[in-house]
Amino acid sequence: MVGERKGVDTRSVTGHSRYRAVLLMGAPGSGKGTQGGILGQIPGFYHFAMGDALRVINIRSDLGKIFYEYTSRGELVPDDVVIKFWAKNLDAHATLGDFKPDDDLLILDGIPRTVNQARVLQQHIQVQRIIHLVCRDENAMFERLRRRALKENRADDADEKVIRRRMKVYEDATRPVLEFYSKDIVAEVESVGSPARVLSQILTVLAPLQDQHFSGKLE
Ligand code: ADP
Repeated sequence: MVGERKGVDTRSVTGHSRYRAVLLMGAPGSGKGTQGGILGQIPGFYHFAMGDALRVINIRSDLGKIFYEYTSRGELVPDDVVIKFWAKNLDAHATLGDFKPDDDLLILDGIPRTVNQARVLQQHIQVQRIIHLVCRDENAMFERLRRRALKENRADDADEKVIRRRMKVYEDATRPVLEFYSKDIVAEVESVGSPARVLSQILTVLAPLQDQHFSGKLE
């Protein structure tokens, strides 16, 4: 499967070569994390948030130091580091069994964040839909990030200069990822309104995917 372990056929862990996946995309503060967290509670979805996975790394480890060096400035962690960590991490979840590739649709939040990451990920995932959360109100996004800084103690949300840098990095490096995929699979969802309202729009797009999968299993 996704890991690159020397001498081990990692495919044998799950028997999968490419996971069925949905990408959650949107600028910082667009509500990806909130929606991903809710979706992850629904049977048949497995939510993987790259930022959350990176944040739990011990900050004193070599990887933790690299992570901190980039995120504290609002920059992206280098692609090779992120992809390797992502693959190993997901592999571990599939082995532990909380992620069940046969049953679960993988909801990826925060990866891919560059076109190069998208290209490499093609070997590992089969992207079925992209949910593009759109928030045209920059003030609302800043406000969300400020609230999150207080609630989750995130240094990268507390500093306005760092937030601005992350917005710019999103525009320059991450938005082009949307063009890497076919337009037909991209669904734009306005991320204004209550989480329930936004969720209902997302589920309108994703529920049919799950219906197909479940009915396929019953046949
Ligand atoms: P947000 O929710 O504000 O968009 P995340 O929690 O997803 O932010 O990510 C926090 C930080 O972690 C990013 O600003 C970046 O430094 C790093 N990061 C997360 N995912 C990736 C990725 N796919 N590639 C490179 N860096 C990443």
